[in-house]
Amino acid sequence: MYLHGTSVINKAGRLEIGGCDAVELADKFGTPLYVFDEELIRRRCREFMEAFRATGMKFEVAYASKAFCVMAMCRIAEEEGLSLDVVSDGELYTALRAGFPPGRIHFHGNNKTPEEIEMALDAKIGCIVVDNFTELYLLSETAKAKGAVMNVLFRVTPGVEAHTHEFISTGQTDTKFGFDIGNGSAFRSVREAMELPNVRILGVHSHIGSQIFEVDGFRLAAERVAEFAQTVRQELGITFPVINLGGGFGIRYVEEDRPLPLAQYVQAITEAIRTLFARYEYPLPEIWIEPGRSIVGDAGTTLYTIGSSKTIPGVRKYVSVDGGMTDNPRPALYDAKYEAMLANRALEPVEETVSIAGKCCETGDMLIWDLELPKTQPGDTLAVSCTGAYNYSMASNYNRLRRPAVVFVKDGAADLVVRRETFEDVAGKDLLPERLRKQPVANS
Ligand SMILES: *Cc1c(COP(=O)(O)O)cnc(C)c1O
Repeated sequence: MYLHGTSVINKAGRLEIGGCDAVELADKFGTPLYVFDEELIRRRCREFMEAFRATGMKFEVAYASKAFCVMAMCRIAEEEGLSLDVVSDGELYTALRAGFPPGRIHFHGNNKTPEEIEMALDAKIGCIVVDNFTELYLLSETAKAKGAVMNVLFRVTPGVEAHTHEFISTGQTDTKFGFDIGNGSAFRSVREAMELPNVRILGVHSHIGSQIFEVDGFRLAAERVAEFAQTVRQELGITFPVINLGGGFGIRYVEEDRPLPLAQYVQAITEAIRTLFARYEYPLPEIWIEPGRSIVGDAGTTLYTIGSSKTIPGVRKYVSVDGGMTDNPRPALYDAKYEAMLANRALEPVEETVSIAGKCCETGDMLIWDLELPKTQPGDTLAVSCTGAYNYSMASNYNRLRRPAVVFVKDGAADLVVRRETFEDVAGKDLLPERLRKQPVANS
């Protein structure tokens, strides 16, 4: 397994993250356990911020909180100077509760409810990324009723397909997200918004996909967006002060993945925007981006305890852990690949090839196929790396499993940032209608 961030193998031959022995963490907090390397999260934030500062351009780096949205993470994003993207009332609530400055919050989503729009207006967040006409008019009416004005970006689909897994491409024309540039609906959205005094047009937003390993898609999107901005300026007389090129910067899940240094994505994007807008003699806009996965992905490691195993002679050996698709649905959803190691015997030689199964009642509940490990035993601690993004945030209670705890480790200290769920968390919201309650047995 590739060791990310502060991860090392310590003198005891065990995995250590943020100066904390992984086996001790598993003992203390129980498994499954999400462990986050705080230093690495901060390093990733700084890589983006410093790359932008070096350009001298105006910018905002908004952490796409859907990748991992808990109060402690919102605080780190704030401390590192990032803005924050939310896509639901629950994420907005989490950010506000963590004290995140509302003016630096951006609200996304293709079906914001009337309640969510009210909540965003009441909180006076920085901007709403408008996705469709229904929302544009709902926002306008709601803002008018409240005597408020809201900044907006228009989410446009530039018709760029990023080279990535089909399920996570969103820049192409046939998608539920955004206004299409090609068919004129993006242009119409701006023209109609100009008539709405309670929305203030900031600019356009494009997000072309996820886990992208090359800069070409971003360059192409920048071209389409710049061309669109120029058309709008010429025909409607509006100059956008902001261009947002979204997130999707790839990370290294497995050995074969070859992501670019984060600064390289920033350089490509800023250079493209600078050149394109100069060509149109267009005032240089602020550039915003929205990394999610690349901020938290490789900072997360999930610890499991190994339990049962099953050997099918001539076929394979299944080794089961005490979590699975409930804490990491990505292998089942996207066929995502992960690396792992035995945290308690990290230096022992490889002795067997096993496939790691979760404990849920689904044949598809597999975490890793054909993983090379030392001879495994029940009680071993398995560490799966790169689980920081879209694991906790996509976790479920399938089979009524309790969602794991989350700890942040740094300089030898481990802090619980989400406690493990209890049975009360799992069943305590259930209600029994009177007619289904067990009647006391009558004495005869
Ligand atoms: C999901 C999403 C992001 C973040 O994507 P990552 O792949 O996690 O960087 C950014 N912007 C929008 C609009 C998104 O939907």
